[in-house]
Amino acid sequence: MDSAFRLYEADLHCHTTASDGLLSPTELVLLAAKLGIKGIGITDHDTIQGWEEAEEAGAKHQVQILKGIELNTNWNGKEVHILGYEMDSSSGIFSEKLKVLRKAREKRMVEILKRLQDLEINISVDEVQEFAKGESIGRPHIGQALVKHGYVKDIREGFERYLGTEAPAYVPRYKLTSEEGIHLIREAHGVAVLAHPGVHGLDEEIPVWVKAGLQGIEVFHSQHNPVDELRYLEIAQEYHLLTTGGSDFHGEACKPNVNLGGWGVSLKVIQQILDVAQHN
Ligand SMILES: [Zn+2]
Ligand SMILES: [Zn+2]
Repeated sequence: MDSAFRLYEADLHCHTTASDGLLSPTELVLLAAKLGIKGIGITDHDTIQGWEEAEEAGAKHQVQILKGIELNTNWNGKEVHILGYEMDSSSGIFSEKLKVLRKAREKRMVEILKRLQDLEINISVDEVQEFAKGESIGRPHIGQALVKHGYVKDIREGFERYLGTEAPAYVPRYKLTSEEGIHLIREAHGVAVLAHPGVHGLDEEIPVWVKAGLQGIEVFHSQHNPVDELRYLEIAQEYHLLTTGGSDFHGEACKPNVNLGGWGVSLKVIQQILDVAQHN
């Protein structure tokens, strides 16, 4: 959907170099400030490493920071993304579990590199680590190394030919179930939100996740069309869920048509999330 003429007050779904985004937390905040966006959610995969830097930059440039995370969970063999907001970072179980998830990412990377080697593609662990500036390593970083060596012209081709679920170097990775992901966020007093449900297409499972502790749904997202938005607004009302939204910004070069603030919500939604978190 074309978002060239829209800009929301708050974009609650953004990735930084702590996971697979291209901008550092500070650069992301500076971009938000330049565009006039008043609030952003930092939702890196399996890590909260970007929080501190984002908060420092946010305070300096008057951009409100919502502290978040995105967990890639497994639901009967399908991938479901769960967003968590405002977790207590001092929670021991929470940080332990994140460590386990990141270790699984590293192990998977080594296995993917081995498979690539079988295909006569030689990329070292160090090289991938160089692209992964933060602590959460992912396939896009291997994709960047493939591009650098000229094996593919861009990351998308890297996924098509080597890294995607149907491709020869694909390796699945350990994931929490969606319910476990929701529980983990709630145990750390955070607000669990279903990310971009239009991408998963598992609407009939939403009541199960609500029972597990889901408190919000990402209605507005760069991969949702207006019909999706309406449907998820209705579901949010039916189950009394918070209505959230964000672009899923990774950086222009990574996702060219996904601009920061092109999808989102009004600033008051941040306050709603903070209020709910306070009672969790
Ligand atoms: Zn996602
Ligand atoms: Zn995301």
